[in-house]
Amino acid sequence: MTVNEFESRRQTVADGLAERELDALLVSFSPNLRYLTGFTGSSGNLLVMPEKCILFTDPRYQIQVAQETTCQARIAKGALSVAVLAAIKRLRLKRIGYEPARMTCDYFESLKSHLPMRATLKPVAGWIEELRMVKSPDEVARIRRSVETNSRAFELAVVGIRVGLKEQDLAAELEYHMRRLGAEKPSFETIVAGGARSALPHAQPTAAPLKAGDLVVVDMGAIQDGYCSDMTRMLFLGRPTPKVKRAYRAVLEAQLAAIDAVHAGASTARVDGAAREVLKGYDLDKAFVHSTGHGLGLEIHEPPRIGKRDKRKLQTGMAITIEPGVYVEGFGGIRIEDTVIVTEKGCEVLTQTSKDLRVIA
Ligand code: ZN
Ligand code: ZN
Repeated sequence: MTVNEFESRRQTVADGLAERELDALLVSFSPNLRYLTGFTGSSGNLLVMPEKCILFTDPRYQIQVAQETTCQARIAKGALSVAVLAAIKRLRLKRIGYEPARMTCDYFESLKSHLPMRATLKPVAGWIEELRMVKSPDEVARIRRSVETNSRAFELAVVGIRVGLKEQDLAAELEYHMRRLGAEKPSFETIVAGGARSALPHAQPTAAPLKAGDLVVVDMGAIQDGYCSDMTRMLFLGRPTPKVKRAYRAVLEAQLAAIDAVHAGASTARVDGAAREVLKGYDLDKAFVHSTGHGLGLEIHEPPRIGKRDKRKLQTGMAITIEPGVYVEGFGGIRIEDTVIVTEKGCEVLTQTSKDLRVIA
């Protein structure tokens, strides 16, 4: 990310304060702080004002903050709230926006109860998240690298799959390869679930060994250069039954239909509907219990949501997943997931891993 990119993001926020009738915006949510400043520390508050910004953090981050951001930093010796309040007072700020979904009640109270006379805190929901939805070319490049690392880690770990391998050992292999290939860490807890447990959309890997005749779901993501990837692929140990093959075909067709429906201007509900329609044709729509996808970037789940009730219009440069699935108790679950970038006419599927059901003989 160029220094200018962070500065221009802060400028966008500074320029938007007046129309929101704010003197300042207090940003406390780490991914939003990182988006606006480049600072990756776990403790920080950013005060964005029309003419300047101040980033507050504690002495643990004194060196790091100077390395990571061009933003003016203030090292608070005590509680961050005290330093922030002192600045509010000194700069005579009256209307201060804050992120209600991102601040603890405790922190809010500690600010509110010590505000100077006539100063007020105003909730501002989702503003920075809104800006984060459309990715810059540099962000797309990072997501692309993260996707590539994720896919390569999958290929390296898949060769070791055999009957008897524990779910948690496969998860460990996947994560090991991710890190060896340059990822900072997984973007969420890797999902490996075999047999009937594959019907749990968010199954955690257990010590259970993979068995012959198991459907296995692998849902994995990396964080590289701060940006997430997300992919789900299915494996089968032995010979898949006609029922498995049919369900797999249904999910694959649904996934391809949803990808086809993606383009700038398309409504998120329409993309979700495209996947649901295909599954309905297989009488599997009731088994599709989650939404078709989600945005991703600095966080693994961020706006927009691609679901039934989501009426947002997709925009060029959004990074989203497309991941329909069906889950049948006692039988198992099937999900196929790619990371894609919305373009004017359609989308670019970043995930290059084959979408064939991996049959492990
Ligand atoms: Zn996933
Ligand atoms: Zn996902």
